[in-house]
Amino acid sequence: VCAAVGVAVGVARRRRRREAELQGSAEADRKRRAAAVIEEVERSLSTPTALLRSIADAMLKMLISYVDNLPTGDEHGLYYALDLGGTNFRVLRVQLGGREKRVVKQQYEEVSIPPHLMVGSSMELFDFIAAALAKFVDTEGEDFHLPEGRQRELGFTFSFPVNQTSISSGTLIKWTKGFSVNGTVGADVVSELSKAMERQGLDMKVTALVNDTVGTLAGGRYMDNDVVAAVILGTGTNAAYVEHANAIPKWTGLLPKSGNMVINTEWGSFKSDKLPLSEYDKAMDFESLNPGEQIYEKMISGMYLGEIVRRILLKLAHDASLFGDVVPSKLEQPFVLRTPDMSAMHHDSSHDLKILGAKLKDIVGVADTSLEVRYITRHICDLVAERGARLAAAGIYSILKKIGRDKVPSNGSKMPRTVIALDGGLYEHYKKFSSCVETTLTDLLGEEASSSVVAKLANDGSGIGAALLAASHSQYADVD
Ligand code: BGC
Ligand code: MG
Repeated sequence: VCAAVGVAVGVARRRRRREAELQGSAEADRKRRAAAVIEEVERSLSTPTALLRSIADAMLKMLISYVDNLPTGDEHGLYYALDLGGTNFRVLRVQLGGREKRVVKQQYEEVSIPPHLMVGSSMELFDFIAAALAKFVDTEGEDFHLPEGRQRELGFTFSFPVNQTSISSGTLIKWTKGFSVNGTVGADVVSELSKAMERQGLDMKVTALVNDTVGTLAGGRYMDNDVVAAVILGTGTNAAYVEHANAIPKWTGLLPKSGNMVINTEWGSFKSDKLPLSEYDKAMDFESLNPGEQIYEKMISGMYLGEIVRRILLKLAHDASLFGDVVPSKLEQPFVLRTPDMSAMHHDSSHDLKILGAKLKDIVGVADTSLEVRYITRHICDLVAERGARLAAAGIYSILKKIGRDKVPSNGSKMPRTVIALDGGLYEHYKKFSSCVETTLTDLLGEEASSSVVAKLANDGSGIGAALLAASHSQYADVD
């Protein structure tokens, strides 16, 4: 009996040991698979500096803005602005007091756009906007003053690619950033808005139609004379800069007095073999509202970064059981991982990555993640954010090159102070992203030139910028 028991105990012990060994090797195997996926992700997301340089050389397209004069500080009077481009839109009024008093008073309101209007009909969208604007105008108080007999005037910031036909008219080329409204492409967006204002009984004239980058450039210049370009890093991405009018092949009009013309680069639409697209980018693009379009934007901007991370985590869940034997169904849902959540996870520097763990629980629905899984997740956030930031820096560098502010002049004179106005939630709130943009830019420019280049947050400069441009293009400008 004893011998039999002894044999049985021995058998059980051996079985436990074998199970443990098997588990150990399963664990080792899982780790190996995870490492292989991570290595592949690292390779496919890498952006060596030499590559950034060649991307910078291939970029810029030019849309003419019809803005040939930036604000001077002399603007005065009451002006309105309306900013449409992301998930919110803003209405603003400002009383400008001229060179001495500048912005005497301003008020704004932010209204979120019901998601169904982002994919509905043009008339519904513009009616909604005009109604909110009309309501806002009704609350205009004593601090604001419109001279007798004058019509209220508006600067319209419309943050989508537009073929401008004048400073106050232009047709929509295509929607971007999750908008896909029926009946607007090809239409003059100012006349769409004007008709909607009329339907609301609102008597107001759009005197300037501007892209948000152009508005930010105008607002930035009003605050700082050395602003030469503006960049948006938000839901979408784009840049505008001041170009010599005679360097614009497309410009067939008279040479403006200033000699300058603001260019909207629409760099978000940049697409090239040079852009290192990973399988995750390709799949995301394929399933997007606008496949094949806005490729550079999809690698950089806030609408997409979280989604790229989600796709990589999903791959790790499938191929390396990152979240256990079953793939969490929540993780299969496109856009569940938003960029602000990605940013929160990325910035978690606690020793046990507690915030990150809580986010994973929230978003992915997995309660107990190991420290290793949390580290892997943070590493993926880091890779995706860093690639986006480095590509964005290449874009800024391409503009500085274009206007000759990428190096110290060869005649020995000092490089002029060069300010880039930046705006957008991604740049403002995602610190690791914005600091990576800045270090990469320094790297591309070199120490000497970069000491003259300043990246400056122009918080909501586009609203005031549009109002300023509405003022300088006022129908009463000659009278004043
Ligand atoms: C649009 C640009 C805009 C940018 C930032 C892009 O999707 O095409 O016109 O400036 O987003 O808002
Ligand atoms: Mg905006």
